[in-house]
Amino acid sequence: MSTFLLEIVTPERIVYTQNVHMVSVEGIEGQLGILPNHIPFVTPLKIAPATIKHENGKQETVALNGGFMEVRKDKVVILAESAELPSDIDIERAKSAKERAEKRLTGKKDEADFQRAELALKRALNRIGVYEHK
Ligand code: ATP
Repeated sequence: MSTFLLEIVTPERIVYTQNVHMVSVEGIEGQLGILPNHIPFVTPLKIAPATIKHENGKQETVALNGGFMEVRKDKVVILAESAELPSDIDIERAKSAKERAEKRLTGKKDEADFQRAELALKRALNRIGVYEHK
């Protein structure tokens, strides 16, 4: 097996930088699994977990809040709007965000408010899912 360098960065911080065997993400056109020596390309990402596999079989999950993945010759860079490892996630905060978003979705709001609430709900559910699978 071989590896490549995976970097996950947000506007705030470097979340992850390690040699890995594979990363799976949800691109806007579907699930993508990237192995070493993949051809270079760029794709926008959904609000979804990234699954990282190591040579020794270990797996890690990171909650990605949209952004882009850039597959380069020498490394893979994920530029996310925010990204959290399970150990970063404040589960009570995510649960409150989920409840707030659900309330906003049931209230009579305009389209823009509705879309914002839907995105907030997706972020919260993604964090809860990643936290629970740690
Ligand atoms: P909230 O309503 O709780 O702020 P949000 O989805 O609006 O949630 P974001 O705008 O996506 O939050 O993120 C703002 C910052 O807070 C980012 O740095 C993100 O990593 C962090 N963050 C958001 N929610 C959590 C959480 N539950 N646990 C840890 N970090 C979080």
